Amino acid sequence: MDGRYNDISATVEADRAHVWHHLFQHAVLDKRDPRILVEGKGMTVWDQTGRDYLDAVSGGVWTVNVGYGRESIANAVRDQLVKINYFAGSAGTIPAAQFAQRLTEKTPGLSRVFYANSGSEANEKAFKMVRQIAHKHHGGRKWKILYRERDYHGTSMGALAACGQEQRQEQYGPFPAGFIAVPHCLEYRKQWDVENYGERAADAIEDVILREGPDTVGALCLEPVTAGGGVITPPAGYWERVQEICRKYDILLHIDEVVCGMGRTGAWFGYQNYGIKPDFVTCAKGVASGYAAISCLITTEGVFDRFRTDPDDPMSYFRDISTFGGCTAGPAAALENMRIIEDEGLLENTRKMGVVLMEGLHDLMEKHAIVGDVRGKGLFCGLELVADRATKEPLAEALVERIVGLCDAEGVLIGKTSRSFYGFNNTLCLSPALIVGPSEMTRILDTLDAALTKATH
Ligand code: PLP
Repeated sequence: MDGRYNDISATVEADRAHVWHHLFQHAVLDKRDPRILVEGKGMTVWDQTGRDYLDAVSGGVWTVNVGYGRESIANAVRDQLVKINYFAGSAGTIPAAQFAQRLTEKTPGLSRVFYANSGSEANEKAFKMVRQIAHKHHGGRKWKILYRERDYHGTSMGALAACGQEQRQEQYGPFPAGFIAVPHCLEYRKQWDVENYGERAADAIEDVILREGPDTVGALCLEPVTAGGGVITPPAGYWERVQEICRKYDILLHIDEVVCGMGRTGAWFGYQNYGIKPDFVTCAKGVASGYAAISCLITTEGVFDRFRTDPDDPMSYFRDISTFGGCTAGPAAALENMRIIEDEGLLENTRKMGVVLMEGLHDLMEKHAIVGDVRGKGLFCGLELVADRATKEPLAEALVERIVGLCDAEGVLIGKTSRSFYGFNNTLCLSPALIVGPSEMTRILDTLDAALTKATH
C-alpha cells in the first residue's frame, strides 16, 4: 500500500461517530479504533494503519470469490454506467439480459431470473412466489414454507422467520406465520442412532410434512451446505431422499445458494454436487464477488408459467419489484466475474485447493485434541472445536474467539460460525477466494496451527 492513507485519523473518527457497523457490539470501540479497510489486491487487504491481512474468508462472509483489485470488473461496471446506469426492471437492459442467459446456461432445468440486491431479498421473492402460487393454484393451501434448523436465509422479516438459528430471531419477533422448522442433518451431532443417517435425517422432513399436512406445505428451503450454522455438509443419501419427498408431496424445492453459488464448492452451484433438481435457486454473494450489489432468484419455466395463465386477471402476475434489482452495475459486474471464473479455471482451482485445505485441516485434527470434526466442500470448510472429544462439549466461545484473534494478530483473517444459544458457535470457517494458491494456503494452515497450539497451552 502507498502512503496515501497515513493521515486517516479524521475518517477513523467519522466512522466511530457515525457508522453503525453490522453484527457488531460497538462498546468494543471504547477500547480500540475501528478497523477501516482501504485497499485490496488478490487475497490481501490493507487497513488504515498500513497493516496487511491475508483474507481466508473472502471479505468476511464468503463473498469476494475472484479476489480483490479486479480492474476488469471495475472497468465493466464503469463502461456500463456511462452507457446507462438505471432503468426500472419492468424494462430490460443489455447486461441484465446477457447475464440471465449466461447464468441459466449454468443451471440446466432453470430458465428464468428475477433480479434483486441481496440474498435476503432473493429469498423473500421465492417465498412470495410460493404464497402466490398457493393462492392462485391451490385454493390458498400449500402456503407453508419449511426451513431447516441451523440454516440461515437472511435478515428481513420473512427470511428471519425461516431462520434455523434461533439466536438471530431473539427480540425481533413476532414473525410472519407459516414458516416451519425441520431437523438439521449434521451427523457429528447425531439425533438418531442409525446406519443410514442421511436417509433418516431426510425422513425427519417427511415426518414434519405429515404432521403439518402435505396439502398445506408449498416449499422446502435448504442451504446445499449449511454455512453460518456450522459448515454442514449433507450426509450420504440425504439429498436423494429429500428430492423424492418433495416430488411425492408436490413441494417446491428452494435451494439457497447465497454462499455456495458461483463456484465456492468447486461446482457452479452447491446443489450440482448432489444431483439435485431444484425449483428455485437463490444466489447473491459470489455472483459479482462484491464489486456491485446483485442477487438472483432462478426458477423453472413451470413456475414462471404459473404467473401468466390469466392475462386478464390484474392479480395474476408476480406483483413484485426491487428498485435496484438487476440495474445495471450488478449484472455488468456479474458477467465479468463469471468470465474470470471460466477463463482462469477457478472451479478447477477450487476443487484442487479444496483438497489441499481439507487435508491440512485433517492434519490439524490429528494434532489438536480440540478439533472435534472437519467438514467442507471445495473452498468452504469448517473446523468444529470441542472442549472434550468424547462428550463433544462445544469449546467455550471465548476460546474460539481467541483463536480467531490470534490468527488476526498474525495477519490472517479467518471466521467463525454464528453466535448460538445451543452450541454451534464453535466452528471456525475457512473460505479463501477461489484464486488461492499453495503458498497462501500454507500460510493460512500454519497460522491456524500456531493459534490452536497457543490457545490451548
Ligand atoms: N442465505 C445465506 C445462506 C446466507 O449465508 C446469507 C447471508 O449470510 C443470506 C442468505 C442473506 O444474504 P444477504 O445478507 O445478502 O441478505
